[in-house]
Parts: sequence; C-alpha cells; structure tokens
Amino acid sequence: MTRQETNMLDHWISGATDPGEGTRTGPVYDPALGVVSKEVRFGTAADVDRAVGVAKAAFADWGNASITKRQNVMFGFREILNERKDELAAILTSEHGKVLSDAAGEVARGLEVVEFACSMPHLTKGAFSQNVSTEVDVYSVKEPLGVVGIISPFNFPAMVPMWFFPIAIATGNTVVLKPSEKDPSVANWIGAALKEAGLPDGVFNVVHGDKEAVDALLTHPDVASISFVGSTPIAKYVYETATSHGKRVQALGGAKNHMLVLPDADLDLVADSAVNAGFGSAGERCMAISVVLAVEPVADELIEKIRDRMGKLVTGDGRKGCDMGPLITREHRDKVAGYLDVAATDGASVVVDGREAEYDGAADGFWLGPTLIDQVPTTSKVYQDEIFGPVLSVVRVSSYAEGVDLINSGPYGNGTAIFTNDGGAARRFQREVEVGMVGINVPIPVPVAYHSFGGYKASIFGDAKAYGPQGVEFFTREKAITSRWLDPSHGGINLGFPQHD
Ligand code: NAD
Repeated sequence: MTRQETNMLDHWISGATDPGEGTRTGPVYDPALGVVSKEVRFGTAADVDRAVGVAKAAFADWGNASITKRQNVMFGFREILNERKDELAAILTSEHGKVLSDAAGEVARGLEVVEFACSMPHLTKGAFSQNVSTEVDVYSVKEPLGVVGIISPFNFPAMVPMWFFPIAIATGNTVVLKPSEKDPSVANWIGAALKEAGLPDGVFNVVHGDKEAVDALLTHPDVASISFVGSTPIAKYVYETATSHGKRVQALGGAKNHMLVLPDADLDLVADSAVNAGFGSAGERCMAISVVLAVEPVADELIEKIRDRMGKLVTGDGRKGCDMGPLITREHRDKVAGYLDVAATDGASVVVDGREAEYDGAADGFWLGPTLIDQVPTTSKVYQDEIFGPVLSVVRVSSYAEGVDLINSGPYGNGTAIFTNDGGAARRFQREVEVGMVGINVPIPVPVAYHSFGGYKASIFGDAKAYGPQGVEFFTREKAITSRWLDPSHGGINLGFPQHD
C-alpha cells in the first residue's frame, strides 16, 4: 500500500503500517500545547474486514502454536516494554496530556498484566478425571476463541489495551484493536514492539477510527468476542449490538466513585488520598474519586486540609514535572468547566475554582485547575454526572448509613473507598456496598493483575471482568473430551443414554 503521508498515523495490519482505504481522518492533539500534532486515519468497514481476515488467517497457526512459543513472545514483549517504558510514556503524554510520571505508572500497571500472561501455561492447565467409567477418561482443555476485538478509551491508551491483548494472545487468539482516536499512537508502538518480540504478523492488528470501525467489528461474523472499555452509553450499545451478533462481550462503562469518610478517620491521610485520587490524571480516570462523602462533623476540617494541599499543586505541561496536566480536548475542558456554572446555579459552594488557576504551559493548552465544590446537592448534575475532570465534590452526610445509601442508590458501581480506623465499620462497608472494587483506606482500589478488574451495575455489561482469572476465562472456551481406548473385549450395541459402569 502507498499513500504514505507525513504526520499521518496509519493502521497496523499484518505487522506493518497500512493506510487502508478510508478517506476520513481525525486530528490528534498535543493537549498541553493545544495544537494538532498529527492526523489519524479512520478505518472503514472494508479496512476492518481486511484486518479481521488477516487475523483469521494468522489464527490458523497461532491458535495451534506451542504454549512455549506463545510464552516466549510474552517474555520478549515484557523485556522490550520494561527497557523502553519511558519512550512509551513520552508518546502517551504527548497525546493524552497526563504527566510523565503518571504515564509511566500507567505503563507499569499494563506491564503487570503482561507478566500475568507470562504465566499462561499454568493458568490454562485443564482437568483430568481418570476412569470415570470403566476405562473411560474425561478431560478438559481451554481453547482460544479465534479473532477477538478490543475497543479502548482515551484515558488509558496503553494500560486498557494491555488489560486484554496479553491474555488474548497468550491463550492463542488473534487481535484487532480499535484504540481511541484521541491518542492512537501508543497502539502502533505496541504493534511494532510485539513484532520485535517475535509475534507473527497478523496476530495483533490495529484499525484506527470511530463509530464506523467499531460497528464493523461489532457485527463482523469472524469476530468471536469484544472487549470494550469506555463510557456507559457506548458500553451498553456495544454489549447489545455485539451480543445480538453472537459474540461474547465484556463491556466496561463509566463511573462516579465515592469516598466515605467516617469521623474517626485520619484526616491527613484522607486529604492526601482525596487529592491524589481526585486530581491525578486531571480526574480522567474511571477509578478517580469524584465525591467525598464526609460524615459530620469532619467536613469543615477536611475541606481545609484538602484546600491546603490543592494550593500546592502545579498544573501544567506533563513534560515539565508538574503535578497535573491538561484535559484531553478543548471541548471536554469546556464541558467540565461548565459544571462550575451548574454548581453555582444549584446552590453548591465553589471552594476552589479551577478556571482561575495558573498553569505552567502554553496559552492554548486545554487547562483547568483542580476544583473543589462543597455542599453539592445530590439532585445536581454535578453530583449525578460522570464529569471526568479535576472536579472534587463534597457531600456532607450525617451517618455511615446515609453515606452507604447514597453510594448504593447511584447508577454506577465501579470503585469506592471508606476511610476509617474502625475495622468493624470497614468490614460492614465491604459487605453492604454495591460496588465492584472497594478500597479500605485505599483511594484507588485497582486490583492487581492476578485478580480481576470490573465494577457492578452500569459500570459493566457482560459477565466477565477484565484481566486476572476472569480474563483467562473470557478469552478461552472449554472443551470436554470423553475418551475410551477400546479393550478388545468391549463392544456391542446399546442405544441407551451413556451411564457409568
Ligand atoms: P467513549 O465511550 O467516548 O469511547 C470509547 C471507545 O468507543 C473509543 O474507542 C471510541 O472511538 C468508541 N466510540 C465512541 N463513540 C462511539 C459510538 N457512538 N459508537 C461506537 N463506538 C464509539 O469513552 P472515552 O471518552 O474514550 O473514555 C472515557 C470513558 O471511559 C469514561 O466514561 C470512563 O469512566 C470510561 N472508562 C471506564 C473504565 C472502566 O474500567 N470501567 C476504564 C477507563 C475508562
């Protein structure tokens, strides 16, 4: 294929960059500069069809490759990632905006899943029952699904794809990834690194684009499964569309995560945690804390401590050693800033207004400083919506029970945290709260790679969480084999249902 253009990001198909057939492209911004750094191609249904065809052809060998061969590729990829993680973090920061240390942290959390996938020989061992009947054995094996589709959001362009493809590939599947069009370059870097690690061409493919490419993946007859992460309305759409086309689907959606602070908590720890979890990655994390539920009488003291810490945060270009970077696009920045007007109208009290913050970066960057809003009514959109920005709300409650009721009455159930020194209260919270990931004095309880990641309610559609044991189950199907090697004395006709003797 020709059509090479400077500053144009192509697809990655069959181990090489590929411009595809589409004519549509989208801008990729450097959010700290506020300028378009490159264009990315938008794949058509035909581009997706070709990538799926390549992946299907590659599956013939990869699905039957030895466990050792697959494992060696994972080990090789792990080495490359480890050696060059700073390079990947720099690409990530230039398109997402999160500060370099945070980008490196994201890569490190993805690396954990690669390491988990290196242990796939152990994780995919089947079961064997000898002599279930006279001279009959039953055993089960885990087989790959075939071509799997992965669709990822902008906020973790490295980690979220890595929640899925290491496990998918290590279990013998082949992949078509549709990354976010907002920060797409990381996906091509990964494609090249996997090739360098020895992955055969066609096992990992990237088709860039938007709804057109997504829809083509969701409906393609040769795609066996879809792993999606993004906002709740799209997750629901993806789940409904892909399941109605016969696919296995895990679709992780949005969140509104609450931190419940009991009066006996260590308020300095709480304030540190609220600031870290509220403003890290400018609040563009599905596990960000966006609501502090302060059980009175602690709210005034806690707000002072949070405000004090916020005053020391430096917002600016993530390459300059700042604490917090810009938002992903100007449009998103304006939408988030709009919630400050909503807060004022709804009678909340804006304690720190991020629109007034200074920043260390270019004038056109998509800046909004850390924002703190107190007395947020639970009827306000500020409380109800997933704002996905550096906006921390405080809701004052009178008791533990009122706090838990609020958390459980919301539509989402991704993450939550309780801060207390009372083990009994924490234990009760762990049981009573209807949320999939719970922190006890831990503000961002993202499980390690050998557990699984996923929420409850509108934060997930489908039965399997991401990575860990549930990831292995998702990317494999089990075959049960009943085997008898005939003794010469056996035989004869018997039309009855098989029974054991
Ligand atoms: P998004 O839903 O806008 O986009 C996610 C993916 O879907 C992208 O690849 C995008 O191109 C595609 N897409 C967007 N609109 C589409 C449409 N109409 N039809 C088909 N495909 C479409 O999400 P985002 O803004 O990139 O990411 C932020 C969201 O992701 C937040 O809601 C956040 O909570 C959520 N998220 C959830 C988790 C989790 O584990 N639950 C993790 C990270 C992010």
